[in-house]
Amino acid sequence: MRWQGFDAEPPLLAQGTPGEGLLAAAAMLLLVVALTVLQYGALRERLREELLTQAEIVGRTVNAAVLFDSEADAREILASLSGSPLVESARLFRADRTSLAAYRRATPAPHWWARHAGTEEVEHTIVANGMAIGRLQMSAERTGVWTALFKFAGGALSVMLVALALAAVVSRRMRAKVRESEARTRFLATHDALTGLPNRSTFQTLMHHAKGHWDRHARTDALLFVDLDNFKQINDRMGHAAGDAVLRQVAVRLRASVREGDVVARLAGDEFALLLESINANVATRVAAELVRTLPQPMQVEGNELRVSVSVGVALLPADARTPEEAMRCADAAMYQAKRTGKDGYHFYSSQLGDEMKARLTLETDLRAGIPRCEISLAYQPIFDGQGRLVSFEALSRWHRPGIGPVSPAEFIPVAESSELIVPLGLSVLRRLRADLDAWQHAGLEVPPVALNLSSRQFRRDAHRQGYLDALRELSLGPATVEFELTESNVFEDMDSPHSVVVALQSLGYPLAIDDFGTGYSSLGYLRRMRCRKLKIDRLFIKGVSGSEEASMLVQSMIDVAHALQMVVVAEGIETERDHAHLRALGCDYYQGFGLARPLTPEDAAALMRRQALGEYASIAAAAPAEPAHRQQT
Ligand code: C2E
Ligand code: MG
Ligand code: MG
Repeated sequence: MRWQGFDAEPPLLAQGTPGEGLLAAAAMLLLVVALTVLQYGALRERLREELLTQAEIVGRTVNAAVLFDSEADAREILASLSGSPLVESARLFRADRTSLAAYRRATPAPHWWARHAGTEEVEHTIVANGMAIGRLQMSAERTGVWTALFKFAGGALSVMLVALALAAVVSRRMRAKVRESEARTRFLATHDALTGLPNRSTFQTLMHHAKGHWDRHARTDALLFVDLDNFKQINDRMGHAAGDAVLRQVAVRLRASVREGDVVARLAGDEFALLLESINANVATRVAAELVRTLPQPMQVEGNELRVSVSVGVALLPADARTPEEAMRCADAAMYQAKRTGKDGYHFYSSQLGDEMKARLTLETDLRAGIPRCEISLAYQPIFDGQGRLVSFEALSRWHRPGIGPVSPAEFIPVAESSELIVPLGLSVLRRLRADLDAWQHAGLEVPPVALNLSSRQFRRDAHRQGYLDALRELSLGPATVEFELTESNVFEDMDSPHSVVVALQSLGYPLAIDDFGTGYSSLGYLRRMRCRKLKIDRLFIKGVSGSEEASMLVQSMIDVAHALQMVVVAEGIETERDHAHLRALGCDYYQGFGLARPLTPEDAAALMRRQALGEYASIAAAAPAEPAHRQQT
């Protein structure tokens, strides 16, 4: 597959050219030549100075012989020059320029090169009583100069060669290092540092390459999205190092489960993608089934044995999608379908799923338009104590979708959460609550606290969190008026964030409740850390509790834990008198459910408050449907 080709790009800096080496050698050679020329001048100068000194000494000695014109004395003095290896010849002239005496060293025939070495000549004037009485000419061979010069040049050349060799070795090493770091930088830009797999942007590039093959060669590829199930729990419970180790092992297993030429990439967090080339639906099914079977096999992480199941979404290309972007959306939708249908499995993209995607998209568009048009209202489900006295309301969003009718929050809240619409929705709920409270208070009713459901996604950004807290203040919705409900998973997501809204709301004094307890993490550690006021046991455990010993024991232990942590226990979803009585016997504090009261319109909630003020307390027998039906979550 082409992605290996990313490494074959030419390095940016690491390539030295052969010309650079030659240039360096030429520059050094030029330097040696220049130094040698300077050295030649200096050596000749020194030879001349030595010769002049000799001439001066001889001149002083021969002074008398010249003065008295004694040729024999002059010759004898000049002959003494044979002791000087420097002087090659000397000649003494009288003042009238006639020769008085001469000397020439008797030497064996010089080497050929010495004959071409040339001679250095100096002249010294012999003075007596302030008058020039003669001249002494002296010459010396330059062979010594040349010998010294050759030695110098040889030495300099050797130093130059050694320096060049050293520079070559050092620069080769440096280039190797630069090449290595360039390769690493390129690798990090195109790959995920943790698993070494190609990253999202590389994967998208490869998808575009693949698209060419779908178009030109009618090739079928399969795109598989693989998402780990409940990975957050591993991170939360065992720490991020363990989470990283799991991701690395999953990456190795994924690579091992496909062919050499197939692409395995890490898109984000615990999301991986596989692009299987030239494949048909049967083989893609086999691969997906194999992944679901083999990936959850036990893995050793920090001395613990872990099993991580995966949900896989498959899209066949180009049958399901004609562009890489569309393909990613299809595989993603298929993967979410696998999650929705119980995780630990695979799901193929289908046109039906496509229709659902489109319906979801239309719902999102309509909701976006509906929130500012105040299409969201609130229904208030009462919560009672053991005597049927109203203790609070839970405010539940209702969307009156034009042309369709009431839509269940179970349908639109997840869409709002995944599109950030949850932020304006949350604010619109606050405004709606303020309006209903005003109407009730205006009617002179004594209103109990109202609980609002919160989603951690309302507070992903700092500005959203601040906006929500500001709105609470501006609408005078203080801790005596409202309380908040968060599901366990919401609490988990929020607690570790540096701007935890749980912490912010608690520090402002708002009572918090853990909603749907028992369906999520049910971590006692978090329960202790959170110090919430209320624990709402999910209706899953409540329905039929009176007839099930096991459910009874579970609910009893939840009540015990909550009471040990000084929490008030609310049972949700009570539908029958038997369950209600049983829960009272188990020691529940508060009760909520269709059996006692359905979610009420603000007007019906007002009527209930009036009845309560007259001492008409709730009982299952008296409960009647009050809210217009909407498609209810089951
Ligand atoms: P929840 O907070 O657990 O609310 C209780 C849900 O259970 C409500 O469904 C309520 O109508 C239903 N319920 C109450 N008693 C019974 C019963 O006896 N039997 C049955 N079968 N159901 C019962 P609803 O109103 O459809 O709300 C669903 C979920 O939507 C809520 O669950 C809550 O998590 C979420 N939600 C509702 N309004 C908002 C909102 O304004 N913001 C956020 N973030 N979430 C909201
Ligand atoms: Mg709730
Ligand atoms: Mg609930």
